[in-house]
Amino acid sequence: MSDNLIVRTPSAYSYPLIIKNMFLAPIVDNPDQEIVYRDSLRFSYREFKKRVRRLANALTAMGVKPGDTVAIMDWDSHRYLECFYAVPMLGAILHTVNVRLSPEQIIYTIDHAEDDFLLVNSEFLPILDQIKGRINTVKEFVILHDDENGPITELSIPIPIVGEYEALLAKASAQFEFADLDENTRATTFYTTGTTGLPKGVYFSHRQLVLHTLSTIAALGTSAKQGRFHQQDVYMPITPMFHVHAWGFPYIATTTGVKQVYPGKYVPSTLLNLMKTEKVTFSHCVPTILSMLIASPEFESIDLSNWKVLIGGAALPKKMCRIAKAKGIDIFTGYGMSETCPILTLAHVGNEELSDDADTEIRCKTGRSLPLTQIRVVDEEMNDVPADGESVGEIVVRSPWLTQGYLKDSRNSETLWKGGYLHTGDVATINADNYINITDRMKDVIKVGGEWLSSLELEDIINLHSRVVEVAVIGINDDKWGERPLALIILDSAGDAPKEKDIINHVRSFIDRGLMTKLALLMKVEYVDIIDKTSVGKINKKELRKKRQ
Ligand code: AMP
Repeated sequence: MSDNLIVRTPSAYSYPLIIKNMFLAPIVDNPDQEIVYRDSLRFSYREFKKRVRRLANALTAMGVKPGDTVAIMDWDSHRYLECFYAVPMLGAILHTVNVRLSPEQIIYTIDHAEDDFLLVNSEFLPILDQIKGRINTVKEFVILHDDENGPITELSIPIPIVGEYEALLAKASAQFEFADLDENTRATTFYTTGTTGLPKGVYFSHRQLVLHTLSTIAALGTSAKQGRFHQQDVYMPITPMFHVHAWGFPYIATTTGVKQVYPGKYVPSTLLNLMKTEKVTFSHCVPTILSMLIASPEFESIDLSNWKVLIGGAALPKKMCRIAKAKGIDIFTGYGMSETCPILTLAHVGNEELSDDADTEIRCKTGRSLPLTQIRVVDEEMNDVPADGESVGEIVVRSPWLTQGYLKDSRNSETLWKGGYLHTGDVATINADNYINITDRMKDVIKVGGEWLSSLELEDIINLHSRVVEVAVIGINDDKWGERPLALIILDSAGDAPKEKDIINHVRSFIDRGLMTKLALLMKVEYVDIIDKTSVGKINKKELRKKRQ
C-alpha cells in the first residue's frame, strides 16, 4: 500500500463512478434531443429524465430495494433504456433476459439470477404461461405493452401483476433523489450461452459501466477519419439490449446526448424504414443481421451513405465489407464478448492513404485495443507470440470492465481468470501495428494432420466466390488427417450449383497466392438451405458439428 495516498478533506465529495453521475452530468446535456420508439412514441431527454424518476418511484412503490434483482424481457425499447438507468441507480441489479433462449433456459437464468421482479413484454406472456409456477423467486410482475398488440393475453393461471408499465409511470411522481452508491455495486447481470454447458451469468458494476462508456466514447470520437461517433449522430441499436448492454451503446448515446431510435423487434423492413425516416447515422450489429438487411427488397432504394455500422460478435467478411462500402456505408469491426462488457477493440482506419483493398483489409481486422485495455496474444505458457501477423495464440486481456467471475460458479471463474488475465478462448495473430486478428475460437480451430487451419480465414475466402451467399466451415473427423474442413454453403439462386471442384479451385487461387494453407484443399463441400444460428444470430458451430458427428 502506498504511503502517499491523497488527503481527503472530511467534507470533500469523493465522486464515485456510478451510473447516477453519468445520468446527472452527461458529456453533452441536450434536453431537447429526441428519444424515439418505432413509429409510436417520441419524447425529449428532458422527459426521459422525468420518466426515469417516475420509474424509480414506481419500482420503489412495488417494493424494489437495493440488492434486489429486477429482470426485463423486452425487445429494444425506450422502456429498456429507462431500466438501464432507473434499476441500477436504485442500487438494484438489472437482469437483461435473453428472450431468444428456450423457455427452459429462460427459467434457468431467472432462477439462477434469483430475480425478484420481472418486467415482461405482453408478447412473451405465452412463454411465461408455459413456465410460471416453475419460476421460484419472482414476487411481482409488470407488463410492458404496445397498444397495437391488442388486448393483453389472459394467462391460464394468474400471476401477481402490479400493473402495466405506462400506467404505473403515469401514476408516479417525477421527483426522485437517487442515493449515492459504492461504485463497485453490481449494476447488471445477464447470461452467456457459450459453447458448452448451462448458461453462465456475468455481472458488471457501476464503475465498470462508467469506464466502458467513457473509454468507448474516447476511442470512437477520436478516430482520424471514419467510424466516429459524435453529437450529430442518430443512434439505433441492431444488437439486442438483452445482449451485453447492446454493446454499451445506450449508455454511450445517452452520455453523448444524441438522438436515439429504438426499433422494437428486429424486422428488416421496420429497421430500414426507421433508418430512412429518422435519418439514423450509427448502428452496430452482427454480420448475419447486416446480410439480412442487404437481402431485403428495400435495401437498394435507401440512401445509406451517412450510415456508420460497427460489426462485431463475429468476423466481418470481406465480401460484406465491399458490398457495404460500395453503398457508401462506413463499415468497420469491433470485438468483445459477454464477459468483457463488451468492447475491447475497434478497427478504425488511420490517417494513412490506402488502396481500396488495404482499407477493406483494416476494416475487417479485429482491431486495436480500447483505452485502458491491455490485450496480449499468448502461447500455452503465457509467452507473447511474435507480433508478426502470423504466429497464433490465445487473446488474454486486462481492462477495468471485465466480469470478475461467473455468477455462483467459482470453478469456471478460476478458469476464466487463470494467471490474472481473462482468457477469451479466441485464437488470433497480432501485427507490428498492434492490430489483432482473430482466426478462430479455440473450440472451432480445425486441426488437420496436427496443423491449425483457420475456419474464419477459409470462410472469408469461400465467401468471395460469386455464387456463395453464406458459408460456415467446421472440422469433421477424418481417419487419415484427424480432422478435415467441411464447408457448408448457401448458394444464390442464379443457376445450377457449382461443382465441388469449382469451389476448391476458387480456394486454390488463394493458396497459389500464399493467402491460405494447402490443407484447405482437403475441404469437403456441402450445399445447404440453412445454417444454424445462436440466440444472438451468430453461426452455431457447436450445433453444426453435433449434427455431423
Ligand atoms: P458473445 O459472448 O456471445 O458476445 O461472443 C463472444 C465471441 O464472439 C468472442 O469470444 C469471439 O469468438 C466472437 N467475436 C466477437 N467479435 C468478433 C470479431 N470482431 N471477430 C471475430 N470474432 C468475434
